[in-house]
Amino acid sequence: MARRTIGTPPLSVTLALPESAEAVAARVRDARAGRTPLRITAARQWLDAGRPCHTAGELSLAALRGVTEYERGDFTITMRAATPLAEIDAVTAREGQWLALQPFGSADGTIGATIATASWGPLASAYGTPRDQLLGCEVVTGVGEVIRAGGRVVKNVAGFDLTRLMTGAWGTLGVITDVTLRLRARPEVDRTLVVVAEGGADAFCSAAWQWLRASPYAPLAAELCSAALATRLGLEGGGEGRPLLLVRLGGNEAFVRAAEESVAALGATTEVSADVWARLRTLEPAGSTVVRLGALPSTLGAVWSAVSDVVERSGGWTHATLERGVIRCVVPTADGTQEESARIRGIIDQLNAPGSRVVERLPAPLWEAIAAPAGDRLSSAVRRTFDPDGVLNPGILAPLS
Ligand SMILES: Cc1cc2nc3c(=O)[nH]c(=O)nc-3n(C[C@H](O)[C@H](O)[C@H](O)COP(=O)(O)OP(=O)(O)OC[C@H]3O[C@@H](n4cnc5c(N)ncnc54)[C@H](O)[C@@H]3O)c2cc1C
Repeated sequence: MARRTIGTPPLSVTLALPESAEAVAARVRDARAGRTPLRITAARQWLDAGRPCHTAGELSLAALRGVTEYERGDFTITMRAATPLAEIDAVTAREGQWLALQPFGSADGTIGATIATASWGPLASAYGTPRDQLLGCEVVTGVGEVIRAGGRVVKNVAGFDLTRLMTGAWGTLGVITDVTLRLRARPEVDRTLVVVAEGGADAFCSAAWQWLRASPYAPLAAELCSAALATRLGLEGGGEGRPLLLVRLGGNEAFVRAAEESVAALGATTEVSADVWARLRTLEPAGSTVVRLGALPSTLGAVWSAVSDVVERSGGWTHATLERGVIRCVVPTADGTQEESARIRGIIDQLNAPGSRVVERLPAPLWEAIAAPAGDRLSSAVRRTFDPDGVLNPGILAPLS
C-alpha cells in the first residue's frame, strides 16, 4: 500500500494513500465526522493556484494512477485521476492517437487536476477545453458518496450534465477519482510556423483574426506572443516590441502544405521546431501572477496593446489564444513582501477587459481584493448540495460562508 509522510520526523505522520474510490470515500467520511477539512492533492504542481485553501488536512490521490480501459476503435480512454498527462501521451502515441489538451504546466501534471481546474492550452483553438473532451467521470462527494457522471462513449447520457459541473469546480463539489476522455487521431504531419507582425499589434491582431475566420485550413493552434515572450522562447523576429504569431498546423502532407501557403498571406513565415509549444507551457516560474482576460474579436487588438504594455514594463509577458479571444498575462512575482504585493496590486488594477477576467495565481494576501467566482447564492447552494460541511478544498473558489 502506497504511503505518504506529512511533516518532518519526529513531528510527522505517515498516511496510507487511498488506492480506490471507496478508500477515498472512507477518508472523506472520516474527515467530515472529525470536522477536519481536506486539501486534495495529486502531483502537487499547481497547489499555489486558486484562492488560499484553509486546512492542514491533506487527501493525496498520488496512488490513484493508471489507464484502466482503452477503446482504440472508439477513440476513448479511461484512467484513474492521478495519471500524469505524460503517461496518457505515451500510451496513446503508440496507437497514433492523442489527448489533444496539453494545458499549461508540465506533463507531470495529472488528468484529474487538469479536469478539476479546467486547464487548457493553445490546442483549445482546434479541440476545445477539458469540458469538450471529458465524456464521463467518477467522483466522491463531500459526504463520502461515490457517484458516476456521464458515460464511456461519446454523448449517450441523459439528465444534468454533471461532468461539466465537475470540470473547473476545483474539487469543491467532489474528488474526481477516474475519468473517460475522447481522443483524436494524432496528425501525420505536425508543423509550426512563426509569422512576425508587420505594423502595429492592433492591425496584426485583426488581420490574424480575419485569416482564422476566412482560411479553410483551421490550425491546431494560433498563439499571439508578445515580444518579451518571443525572446524568452528564443524566437527571432520579436525585436522592437513586435509580437509574433505561432501557428501549429497538423494533418497529412498535402493539407499542411496548403495551409502553409494560406498562412503566408499574413506575412513572412519561418518554420520552427514543435518543441516551442512545450517551452511555452512550462515557461513561467513558480509563484508567478497569472491573469486571463477575455476580449471580443473586435476589441482583442486594442486590449492586447493596452495590457501587454503594462505587463512587459513589469517584467512579464503576454500571449493570446486568438480563436478563443483569451489573453494570458504572466508576471514573475517575488514572494511575500508588502512592496511586492503593492506592485502586483498596481498591475492587476490595470489589467481590465470588456469580457471576463480570471485570476489564476496571485500572492496570497491579494486574494481578498479579488471578487470570488463562486460566491453567489446559487453557487453556494450547489456547493452545499455536494459538500454540505465544506470538507473539500475549503476557500479555494470562494470565502467560507
Ligand atoms: C507552472 C504551471 C502553470 C500552469 N498554468 C496554468 C494555466 O495558466 N491555466 C490552467 O488552466 N492550468 C495551468 N496549470 C495547471 C495544469 O495544467 C494542471 O492542472 C496541473 O499541472 C495539475 O497538476 P497536479 O496534478 O500537480 O495538480 P495539484 O497541484 O496536485 O492540484 C492542482 C489543483 O487541482 C485540485 N485537484 C487535483 N486533483 C484533483 C482531483 N482528482 N479532483 C478534484 N480536485 C483535484 C487540487 O486540490 C488543486 O487545487 C499550470 C500548472 C503549472 C505547474
